[in-house]
Amino acid sequence: MTEQKCLYCQGRLALRRVNRLQPYGNRWILIENLPAWVCTQCGERYYTPQVHDYVVNLLRCNSSPQRTEVVKVYDAIQVTTEIPV
Ligand SMILES: [Zn+2]
Repeated sequence: MTEQKCLYCQGRLALRRVNRLQPYGNRWILIENLPAWVCTQCGERYYTPQVHDYVVNLLRCNSSPQRTEVVKVYDAIQVTTEIPV
């Protein structure tokens, strides 16, 4: 996969460790240090099938996390944009 380019911008991909915030049910799950190929230009992340399976399995088996964090949640619904939605 080393020679592959970003699908969006044709940028170079580099293997990195990333933190992935994953919605699950009506909660969020944070997975730290997940290996991913990251576009050095636009930051798009690509996961290998093995990493994808790891995430699916992690969510499915509901095992004990390393730690639990309290997350502050803000709603930006009042922020208007120039572009009509
Ligand atoms: Zn890119």
